[in-house]
Formats: sequence, structure tokens, C-alpha cells
Amino acid sequence: MHSSPSDLLESLLKLGYLSPDDLKEIQELAASRGMPILEAALLGNRLHPDARGWILAETIGIPFLEVEPGSVPMELAEVFPETVAREYLIAPISREGLRLTVAVSDPFRHTAFSAIENMTGMSVRVVVCPRGRISEIIARLYPERSGFASADITGGAISHEEATQWLALGGLRYLIERVLVHCAAREITGLRIYPLGQNLVVDGRNADGSSVRMLSGQLSHREEVKKALLDLASTSEHPSGLSEKVFAIETSSGVTAYCASFIRGLSGPEVIVKIIPEMRAGISLDNIGLNAEQLAITQKVLGRGSGGGVSLVSSPSAEGIATTLYAMLRHVYSPGLRVVTVEGRHWFRTEGYIQILRSQVEGGFRGSLSLLAESLEPDILMIENISDLNDLVSLVHLAETGINVLCGIRSLNFDQTLRALLMLDMDTFTLAHVMRLAMHQRLVKLLCMECRRSVPAKPSLRRIGKRRAELERIVRDSDFYLPAGCPNCGGTGYSGKMAILELVPFTPGVENIIVSGMDLEEKLDLLFSEDFYPAVESVCDLLRRGMITYEDVLPFIH
Ligand SMILES: [Zn+2]
Repeated sequence: MHSSPSDLLESLLKLGYLSPDDLKEIQELAASRGMPILEAALLGNRLHPDARGWILAETIGIPFLEVEPGSVPMELAEVFPETVAREYLIAPISREGLRLTVAVSDPFRHTAFSAIENMTGMSVRVVVCPRGRISEIIARLYPERSGFASADITGGAISHEEATQWLALGGLRYLIERVLVHCAAREITGLRIYPLGQNLVVDGRNADGSSVRMLSGQLSHREEVKKALLDLASTSEHPSGLSEKVFAIETSSGVTAYCASFIRGLSGPEVIVKIIPEMRAGISLDNIGLNAEQLAITQKVLGRGSGGGVSLVSSPSAEGIATTLYAMLRHVYSPGLRVVTVEGRHWFRTEGYIQILRSQVEGGFRGSLSLLAESLEPDILMIENISDLNDLVSLVHLAETGINVLCGIRSLNFDQTLRALLMLDMDTFTLAHVMRLAMHQRLVKLLCMECRRSVPAKPSLRRIGKRRAELERIVRDSDFYLPAGCPNCGGTGYSGKMAILELVPFTPGVENIIVSGMDLEEKLDLLFSEDFYPAVESVCDLLRRGMITYEDVLPFIH
């Protein structure tokens, strides 16, 4: 322990957290104003950011350690998730039985420590360590699979040091993400990533059309860079046929959308990224497949009040649910809210969200969503898929405490979803009060408009009941198509997929039905006849425009 503040400053000088010139200025400031020397140091803002942690450590007796990254055992990477390490800048450094020692730069992150204790079942000890060292440990424990290294980067408008730090913090994809965010903040309108001689260069385009070199790397890493960009941009697991993709990156200052085009230039593949100033041009409720009425009521019930609520999206398959949940998330999110997501895989990496993999919840938090919420204290909790109806009960109770819950569940059809919901083992008053929305979605394949083949015969109206009149009109007035295959669609005959949605909003009328004394079948009948927003309108519209096959959408029309 150091006995006096001037000893502290001497140590800071030795550690390189303070320059001799700064020390002199601090001493002069202290003398001229007659204030304690440490106060002068803080007022003059002369201290390196790591010095704060060091002073805290010295003052309250927490060990300060410049941990050598190479000394941290690799198996500690398994102890807690990478996202938690990066979010809180905490690195595990050693473990003895059920005691885990972590390095932090800020020793007052109680929430993070208790989250880690709950997640791991171990008791946590803290040492204070400079940020740079923690970043190095994190980079060592959670390495990028790429061979891209800081030595490969040549700085431009973005310095080598800055780029190196991003690379160390989150690997190649994080580096690219930061470059995009950096450009958007500087009102650069677009980026071009292309081969030039032995280099892969990243040029930004200013609003006046002039270009500026942001940074460059070695050409040999071209494929890795492209993969990282695809990974960042894509929501699909098979990006091979991808030529253009809009994606969004969220920062504390808002959401920016980017449109990446993967093209074949004269000297090989290159990527053009346009920065779209429109904040919600990425995923939003407007473009997930809701028709006008569905969109209006969804916005209304999602935006209701500021307290907690549950919005449930069911679907027969995992595909596409994350997109819908993220669209809802973006709608209810506002800066400053704490978002925690639990996903099977990371669909959209979003700065500022705590994103946890499903497998990490099963391993940690004793598999309990309540414990997760208690530890991480989210304002908004997004669960991509709940496999157990008991989890849904827990989520409803969490929503009662004020958390906005968005969750997905597998279900064959909407009838099954509503049945499961109404039969939950809990009182109907709580359920009716807390639910905001129940929605079912199914993906349909969109025909490639370049190569679709016209069907000469009109489809049969056999097996069509209720909707017969509407469909008869469509069959009479529209052309029908089948998939073929062309270079534009990679020979598949389809250009993509789209979600078709049906929903019941939890309006006061719906709440009354649910708390009423009617039996289950009566309630369901009433919900489906009075409060149901069907998909049939979207389906008919797609049929009229020849964008889907008749067979694909028959299940929606019955
Ligand atoms: Zn085609």
C-alpha cells in the first residue's frame, strides 16, 4: 500500500500512466490552487484511463495485476460466454476449484460479477488490470478462426492502432463492423473494398464524390474479409447465391442500415457497401410480411404502455423467427434500454446488446430464464425459441415485473399456439393482462420473376371452403406460375422467402374473452371469429402478383 498521494503519482509515473510533463503540471496546479495533488490530477484530466483502476485498486486494497496474457490457461474460455467477457471487459485469469479469479478494469461492476457467479456457480475474486491487457487476454481466449493479424493492416483515415484494437477486441468481423460504424459517423456515403496490386484496400466515398483511403490489408486475406462481411450482413446460412444484402448495425447513437453488394470486378471479387441514412431501413416491422391492418395493430399493441409484456411468435420451423423477433425488438427499443437476447446462433450482432447462446443458458444459470433475468436485469428480453411451456410461464411472470419479453416457439399452426397459451398452468387474469400479442408465421418461397413459368391451366378450387368467392375471382383474373431456374436464382427457381403471418392482438376485448368463464373451445371460436388478423389478404395479394405457387399457399386458405 502507498502511504501518500504523491507516492501514488510516483508509481503512476513509473507505470507509464502519467508523463513527467503532466506530473509537473499537476504539481503546479495543486500548488497554485492549494488543492490536494490527487484532486489536481483528476481535475486536470491528465491520467491515463487505466490509472483510475490502479488508483481504485490501491485505495481499496484490491490487487492490481498486469496479467501476462500468455499465462492464462486456454480452458478458461469455457467458463463464461465470450459476449459477457466483451460486454463487461472482464477476463477469467485463473481458477482454483470453485473459485474463479477475473481481471477487470472497473472493479465496481457488481451486476456483472453476480451474473458470472450465477452463470458459473463459482465464487468470483477480482483483480484490477489495464484495459489493453484484458483485451489481449480476451483475444487469446476467444480467437478468431481467421489468420488476419494486426501486422496485415496499413492505416489510412483509420489508424493502424485503432484498427488493431478493434481486431483484438472482436476479430475480423468486429473490425469490419467498427469500420462501417466509423464511416457512417463521418458522413461517408459508401465504401468500396477491392484488390489493388498486392493489397486489399478499403476506400470511403465522400458526399462530394471524392474518395478517401480508410485502411488497407494484404490481398491474401481477401476471402476472409469477404466471408466476415457476408457473415455480418447475412441472415442466411447459404450466402452462395447472395449478391446484395441490407443489414443494420445498432450503436448507442442509433441504427444505421448498410447495403452490401458482392460483385465481380475486373481484378476479382469486390464489395461495395452503401450507407443508408434511413434509420430503420434494415429489419423493421414494415418489411417482415405484415399486411397493412396487421402492421397497424401490431405497432399499437407493442407500443402500449411502458411496463412489461409478452409477445409470442410461433412457427413450424426455426427459420425466419429471429427476423420477426428482431423487427419487434427494434420497434420497442429505445437508447438506454438494456437488451438481452438468447439465440440458437447469433443472427444479427448488435452493439450494446448482451447476446447469449441458448447452449450457454442451458450450461449456466442452471438452465433457468428467471435466474438469467435476475442476473442480467434486462429491460427487453428476447428468446428466440422456448422449448418448454414452463419457460413460457416463467416469462409471463418476468413480464409482470416490468420486462418486455419477445419470444419464439415451435408450433404447427396458430390454433395449436393459442390452445397452448390458454391452457398454461397459471391464472387467466395474469395471462390476459400481460400478453400483448400472439402471432404465427410460416415462410413461403417467392418465385424468381426472371424465370417463372406460366401454368396454362387454372388451378382447381376443390378443397376450398370458406374463402371460395375471393379465390374464384383471383383464379379467374390472374395468371399462375411454377418455378423454373436461371442464373439469377442459381437454378433454384426461387428468389427468396417471405413470412406470411396471422395474429391475435391482446386488446381489452381479447382480455375479456380470456378471463371469461367460457370453456376453451368457446374462447377459441370467439377469438378466431372476432379478433383474428388472418394471412389470407397477403396470400391473395401474392397470388394476384404471381409471386408464389398456388400449392405453396393452399394451407393458408382453408
Ligand atoms: Zn430464376
